[in-house]
Amino acid sequence: MNNLLADADICVKCGLCLPHCPTYTKTQNENESPRGRIALIQAWAGRHLETSKKLIEHIDNCLLCRSCERVCPAVVPYGRLVNNFREQIKEERDSTLSVSLLKSVSHNKTIAHLAQSGLRLYQTTRLQKTARLLRLPELFRLGNVDRLLPDYHEPTALAPHYPATTEARGNIGLFTGCMGSLLDHETVNAAIKVLTAAGFNVSVPVMQTCCGALDLHNGDNETFEQLAATNYKAFADNNLDAIVTIASGCGSQMQEYRQADFATKVVDISHFLIESGCNFNDQLTPLAASVCLHTPCSLKNVMREEQGALKLLKQIPEINIAPLPASVQCCGSAGSYMLDHPQMSLALLNDLLKAALDDQPEYLVSSNIGCALHISAGLREKGIALEVLHPIVLIARQLKVITQQPGE
Ligand code: SF4
Ligand code: SF4
Repeated sequence: MNNLLADADICVKCGLCLPHCPTYTKTQNENESPRGRIALIQAWAGRHLETSKKLIEHIDNCLLCRSCERVCPAVVPYGRLVNNFREQIKEERDSTLSVSLLKSVSHNKTIAHLAQSGLRLYQTTRLQKTARLLRLPELFRLGNVDRLLPDYHEPTALAPHYPATTEARGNIGLFTGCMGSLLDHETVNAAIKVLTAAGFNVSVPVMQTCCGALDLHNGDNETFEQLAATNYKAFADNNLDAIVTIASGCGSQMQEYRQADFATKVVDISHFLIESGCNFNDQLTPLAASVCLHTPCSLKNVMREEQGALKLLKQIPEINIAPLPASVQCCGSAGSYMLDHPQMSLALLNDLLKAALDDQPEYLVSSNIGCALHISAGLREKGIALEVLHPIVLIARQLKVITQQPGE
């Protein structure tokens, strides 16, 4: 309670954050704004407001995009405030079936393997088509999960180490993320290809697990701390210069782990490559295509590493990159938000798609798998064939691998 009050009391109620808040922009309701939510938590922590369904709803409607935190002149730790509040009232909050399923798959490797086999069966036979025709996913309250599933790709088994394919310049640990490992093998493989080509020895610790963001944002600090401790152990190798992430949702969470020696090593892959001075220019084949660049909130507002993807992609000759206009706010995916707040989530997605499609791009790139899945689902539902991929995949596809010969 004291921590909640101390954090909430930092807010000077200036309202500068309001125009940056997606839920306030959509509703024009003060209770759906950062300032309003802080005031509600302040009143509750000061015992002037009872716990109620309405109160919980207003705080739950927050996407935790942290746009408000980025622009706040008083530096209110808004993410911490909301997470702490949710922890205090966790007994009063309900979890949906979709979110529980997502947690099981992301926390337990045996369940993840079973899910992989289940997906193979579901998506490579007529099962998915038939189930959708009969509206079975909706009937079992799993429609929000089913809509996100990309086409099935057989996973490639990962080795624990990949040596640099050019002169070695450092060692990195690759955090693949639970959803990346399950649904986005192309990004994982692309990351290994590009990092080793850039001269990094890549370790992929088998013991790594979910970053814990889902748990923290749902008020389960205990599970979050357990997962953080497992990742800390998994990446304990002192020789690692960096812990590179390919999903900014995970990266932003891991940069806030209490284990500071781990947290300070976490970095987004594109930012890492640019900061390491990697220049692939003469190794990239031209791509005369227009690319819409989506910058996830987690990369922009928490990691603050949003320039990396743009600078990296610009190295591809002939590419034409159009970042989404600043007026486009959160895409609405926000971890499990897209599963339990479909209405707001889709309203925000529609704004983004309208702006993205204006320039008729041939690709849309995003550095976070949650956003990519949500945007892809929105495009599929509109019948628009636009490939959504991680920036590192585009780099890997254009990369002519030049392997150093012995003695060179
Ligand atoms: S959160 Fe920050 S920007 Fe928003 S009202 Fe409070 S002090 Fe102002
Ligand atoms: S985190 Fe995002 S949705 Fe939540 S109050 Fe701040 S700006 Fe609004």
